[in-house]
Amino acid sequence: MPEQTTLDKIWQAVLGEMELTVGRASFTTWFTETSISKIEDGKVTVCVPSAFSKQWLEQKYNKPILDSIRNFCSEAKKVEYVIATSDKQNKKKSLPTEKTEKKNLGSLENTLKVHKYSYQEATGINPRYTFNSFIVGGNNALAEAAARAVAESPGTKFNPLFIYGGVGLGKTHLLQSIGNEILRKKKDFRAVYITTEDFAKELVNSIRQGKALDFKEKYRKADVFLVDDIQFIGGKEKTQEEFFHTFNSLYQRGKQIVICSDRPPKEIATLEERLCSRFEGGMMADISQPDLETRIAILDTKAREKGVEVDQEVLGYIASYKQNNIRELEGILNKFIATCQLQDYEFSVKTAKTVLASEISAAQKRSITPQHILKRVARFFHLKSEDLLSNSRRSEIVKPRQMAIFLMRKEANLSYPTIGSVFKKDHSTIMHSFNKIKEIVRRDETSNRELNALRDFLYRRN
Ligand code: ADP
Ligand code: MG
Repeated sequence: MPEQTTLDKIWQAVLGEMELTVGRASFTTWFTETSISKIEDGKVTVCVPSAFSKQWLEQKYNKPILDSIRNFCSEAKKVEYVIATSDKQNKKKSLPTEKTEKKNLGSLENTLKVHKYSYQEATGINPRYTFNSFIVGGNNALAEAAARAVAESPGTKFNPLFIYGGVGLGKTHLLQSIGNEILRKKKDFRAVYITTEDFAKELVNSIRQGKALDFKEKYRKADVFLVDDIQFIGGKEKTQEEFFHTFNSLYQRGKQIVICSDRPPKEIATLEERLCSRFEGGMMADISQPDLETRIAILDTKAREKGVEVDQEVLGYIASYKQNNIRELEGILNKFIATCQLQDYEFSVKTAKTVLASEISAAQKRSITPQHILKRVARFFHLKSEDLLSNSRRSEIVKPRQMAIFLMRKEANLSYPTIGSVFKKDHSTIMHSFNKIKEIVRRDETSNRELNALRDFLYRRN
């Protein structure tokens, strides 16, 4: 069997590859605190920190992990994942004083609760958003699983949990589901939900009224602190300062913190480094765009919540309209149901077409420009728009350029000659680039993911 230092080296090399394969967020989530403990008879034993990561690595990443190990150690035939709790985690778990303190505080809170409704009002949690009504698809499975794990045993596993993804893709729904699940199951737990904007407003008011202490108290008493839309903290110094202290106070006492954002911490402009590293220090889970099947399932649930049954064909028609915003799709579904009910129309594709027609013409007016695509693609790959427009054949420029071309065709519906005029190239060159990307993403899962992330990034607000 190779020595431990050799094993470590192999694993380091594998990690390097895996980071590129699975993307940064998933990598941090699934590969932190992992190692190889032995390689024997072609069997590689990989140590992982929890049952959760064991399951995930086995089911999702086994093949790329094995492929990668084989590059460095040809005798490897099979990987086995074992849970090995690191020293760090053991220490955290064996702090009895924290637990007792939590319990005492909890029961005190319990006796103070007046009745159910005022309690819910004070928590900021809307009973409508639950795990039950949340549809799980490939786009959100990681975030959902992490949210459930957190609701199951707050403060022990993924702390903080940082969920990020485009607008209208279910982040608030998940965040609130954690709150509801905890209110339901752990009656002596205090879950508090707040949007970052409200946090900032309350802070300012409390200072103005000389009640800054009350403000501090309120949030530091939480067992589970659910913070929405953290991207709005950018540029707000005072809020960042206070948030940092609240965060530390909760974290040090083992309280659960969950944060939602429309982008990863690194992309929040003027987010203090110390906050950024705190956020990245926990578990990061992203929500991407749902596929058609998931969108149909979501719309189906929404229709049923309204007591209406709509044909799959009709739902499919509506769901095909948009992939990057469930909230907008839900809006269209609502409009469709209302139109049918008010005007005695059938829930048919024909009616859906009429309802969508007005929506589509409005959307076309908002459609994205080639300049916008150039800017975003450049930013995504840390390049300049001019690089994309240049004639450079450097590989780190060629692929982004081809992706920009692909997106201009696919997302902005521009013709090959129009795109050609942007890049000062003839239309056959543009067509070639388009086909090239089409082929690459069909073959290669990593490039496909990259393109999806890029598409997502096009539609981000800033
Ligand atoms: P975000 O906070 O990411 O902008 P929301 O959580 O507000 O998005 O979601 C927008 C709407 O879409 C909500 O009504 C939510 O219930 C719905 N939605 C999004 N994803 C799902 C899902 N996977 N299952 C059920 N409903 C969903
Ligand atoms: Mg939201």
